[in-house]
Amino acid sequence: MSVTVRFAPSPTGRIHIGNVRPALFNYLFAQKQGGNYVLRFDDTDKARSTKEFADSIEQDLAWLGIKPNRIERQSERFALYDAAADKLKAEGLLYACYETADELERRRNRARALGKPPVYDRAGLKYTEEQIAKFKEEGRTAHWRFKLPNHPEGDPFTFQRTEVHWDDVIRGKQTVDLASMSDPVLIRGDGSYLYTLPSIVDDADMGITHVIRGEDHVANTGVQIAIFEALGSKVPEFGHHNLLTTIDGEGLSKRSGALSIASLREAGYEPMAVNSLAVLTGTSHAVEPAKDMQALAEMLDFGGISKSAAKFDPAEVGQLTAKIVHGLSFEEAKERADALGLPIEPLLWAAVQENCNTLADIAVWEQVVRGNVTPLVGEDDKEFIETAKGLLPAAPFDETSWGTWTKAVKEATGRKGKGLFMPLRKAVTGLDHGPDLKKLLPLIGHQNTLDRLS
Ligand code: GLU
Repeated sequence: MSVTVRFAPSPTGRIHIGNVRPALFNYLFAQKQGGNYVLRFDDTDKARSTKEFADSIEQDLAWLGIKPNRIERQSERFALYDAAADKLKAEGLLYACYETADELERRRNRARALGKPPVYDRAGLKYTEEQIAKFKEEGRTAHWRFKLPNHPEGDPFTFQRTEVHWDDVIRGKQTVDLASMSDPVLIRGDGSYLYTLPSIVDDADMGITHVIRGEDHVANTGVQIAIFEALGSKVPEFGHHNLLTTIDGEGLSKRSGALSIASLREAGYEPMAVNSLAVLTGTSHAVEPAKDMQALAEMLDFGGISKSAAKFDPAEVGQLTAKIVHGLSFEEAKERADALGLPIEPLLWAAVQENCNTLADIAVWEQVVRGNVTPLVGEDDKEFIETAKGLLPAAPFDETSWGTWTKAVKEATGRKGKGLFMPLRKAVTGLDHGPDLKKLLPLIGHQNTLDRLS
């Protein structure tokens, strides 16, 4: 059986690092199995879904290196959902209800007060024609519930223990009892679909073999399996992973912005740093930067995903990015720098690589080499710099120039260590930190150095 998975975001905001987790668990799993990956926009909520968000999600995924084999939009597939709803209605499995939210709340409270589970009592199955006419007169429209198979045949008003089992590919054997659940609403009073039915219809229609998603969906799975079965569809495998949270255990909201893929990209972070963090946090594998998707796929092991939350510190994206940048060969760095319009050449890269926290830092160091630098010379160092200027080796500079120069300055002034090097660095680069001057000086050049010392 060939594997087909899907990532099903609702395009109601930009995706963030927490959404990358299911996006990648599915993608890497498909890669490993030689399977297919469907990007499905769950955009049935017309008020909140936008094309702009859908486009931005596609772009963000492309930047991360996730290439779907197929893209689908639920907003173009309503005919399928209507057909499924009609089939369930015809079989008496989807029934009209007219209670208001307030009425339902009161009933739940009453049930709780009597020590009973607050489960919907299927009053919708008992309405008389007069009652229905009255509801309609009051301007009420029906919402539709799926009748869970948790009752003896022919007696929907007696709830009986009905276990649904699935072998979760991440969490192992799971059991839920449908008797403790209310019949789920599949269609709202305004005729719009909740996520449940379209998702099931699509999973079946698209031949999804594995539904890998966050553990916030575990509670939905028993009901969904019952609906797959009612529709006569093959039930896929399920896997529910722990969710990424901040160190304080706070969830990442789609609208929080800070950890959106767009903002991480703009900050110059590496896609594989984001991917590695999103996948490896909260697993038995150490969080380290994977070289590419294939390497990350090798590190992914569903059995090694922890049962507790996957806590991470946003600063780790920066640390992983720096590790990746420090390990890039010139050729790799050049390919990327060219695409980003960053200046790069072998000597510049060799000089500044270790000092680049992101690839974009090349441009910062290039400015230190070639741009207008304001030399930093303290009052106490003016004379020292004047002496040093007179001892500057002849052009052209090479990797021995810095050593020759500092040796001569040391002999002439008696300064050594930091007292010798720091004023020279500050005068030549305008900074108190930076790449090895032995490598930087030939790039800055004789004339430029002389000018900065004047
Ligand atoms: N659109 C749903 C969500 O974002 C998909 C859930 C699922 O994977 O089934 O939560």
